[in-house]
Amino acid sequence: MTDGAAPRTGKGRWVVESLYEKEGFTCAFRADRVLYEEETGQQHLVIFENGLFGRMMTLDGITQVTERDEFIYHEMMTHVPILAHGAAKRVLIVGGGDGGILREVVRHESVEHVTMVEIDPAVTDFCKAQLPRISAGAFDDPRLDLVFADGAKFVEETPASYDVVIVDSTDPIGPGEVLFREEFYRAAKARLTPGGVIVTQNGVPFMQGDELAATMEKFRRLFKVASCYLATIPTYVGGPMAMGWGTDDETLKSISLEELEKRFEKAGLVTRYYTPEVHKAAFALPRYVQGYVNP
Ligand code: SAM
Repeated sequence: MTDGAAPRTGKGRWVVESLYEKEGFTCAFRADRVLYEEETGQQHLVIFENGLFGRMMTLDGITQVTERDEFIYHEMMTHVPILAHGAAKRVLIVGGGDGGILREVVRHESVEHVTMVEIDPAVTDFCKAQLPRISAGAFDDPRLDLVFADGAKFVEETPASYDVVIVDSTDPIGPGEVLFREEFYRAAKARLTPGGVIVTQNGVPFMQGDELAATMEKFRRLFKVASCYLATIPTYVGGPMAMGWGTDDETLKSISLEELEKRFEKAGLVTRYYTPEVHKAAFALPRYVQGYVNP
């Protein structure tokens, strides 16, 4: 099913979510105004305005980010690993072209350096221009080293090390596919400092459980702790989204609520979704999700 007339009213263009088409499920967002559309050479990028979710972007027909609900994903992908780590000075973001993760990372004054490796400069260029509220000026932060490259190659080749690695990738199709391979996870692990942690965009388990299971199988081979935590982002349809968690430091996941509250207070963050209680609760996995983590 390609973009086209509305399923019902026939008014305007509808951008159709393509992620589950072959399984026979989709949803559609009416594009009240298309702000940008381009074949970037890496992927098909559309940035448009929708009445309910504000400005939003799809890549190859898959919802990436919307102004209305992005705070949930970006806060949980960033503050959970950084506050659990407690002394993160160097952060690596793989993907993240819209700048939402970067915006949340640079809010941590304790972070001294951020490397962001994005494969498609067009995503960053057009999101800066058309979705400026997502990055909110973070691309100008002096701590940022912005690299346009394949994240899988970067982690193989760089000698740098990081306390936290955040893989804010697309889904495992197209350019994002390499970021779900064991060799990528192994190379990313080699970039972690002792006690470091990697978190990954790992899809909606109810819809993409096999992807989570595949990542967790690799993480179990690579890390002492292989798990995930959950947050529900309305436009990632199908229930809570899993954020993969890999580390050799067994204390990070069991940090006390009191300690988290101290670190949150010290960080001085004003958030709209993340709280220390939500952080702790996010690791409480429903039985069916546990089944993907530890079959
Ligand atoms: N939050 C979104 C989600 O959960 O699907 C992801 C947002 S972000 C736009 C995903 C980014 O990953 C895109 O900018 C895309 O260009 C980038 N990307 C895909 N494959 C990549 C690769 N191999 N190396 C680096 N960046 C990649």
